[in-house]
Amino acid sequence: MSIFCIGRNYVAHIEELGNAKPEAPVVFCKLPTSVNTGSEINLPTFSHDVHFETELLVKIGTGGKHISEAEAAEHIAGFGIGLDLTARDVQSKLKAKGLPWEVAKAFDGAACMSEFLPAETFPDLTHITFLLELNGKVQQQGDTALMLFPIAEQIAYISAHFTLSAGDVIYTGTPSGVAQLHSGDNLALTLGDDLLTKRFTVA
Ligand code: ZN
Repeated sequence: MSIFCIGRNYVAHIEELGNAKPEAPVVFCKLPTSVNTGSEINLPTFSHDVHFETELLVKIGTGGKHISEAEAAEHIAGFGIGLDLTARDVQSKLKAKGLPWEVAKAFDGAACMSEFLPAETFPDLTHITFLLELNGKVQQQGDTALMLFPIAEQIAYISAHFTLSAGDVIYTGTPSGVAQLHSGDNLALTLGDDLLTKRFTVA
């Protein structure tokens, strides 16, 4: 199972981190050991500033290479919601030196994910909404209509560089509102119009 993540895909989030708008999708990977499908988040001890990034997840059904944007939807098995956990303090130091981010992004438990709803649940890839409530208050709201690189373009771009296989998951980027996690935080991630809710508590 490969986990691909798209960075800098919503303008308001690019602005909140002071990043430049990318010319092409920014792609990085997590590891199978990053996956957390449970309900508890254990923060890594090497960071003092782990951020949540709430993201729509795309699960690949039929793999492929050089998938066109027009064919992309046929390769999707389902949609979920998850957190791209990021050790922001570690990532900021690496970014400043132009170094890879893996230790800040692919640590154990850094890919929190829900179950997946079948692809047919969302026939229009360009209008899927999602939400994070942090300790009972709305903290992040996403809508695929606001993506710089829409889902079909992400699948085309990733598959131009890597082979996509059944079961692979794409983290499609976070909207604005990212912030630090604290022990005791309760997170409720909702996909679509209350179609799926996944809850996490920070240990
Ligand atoms: Zn992210």
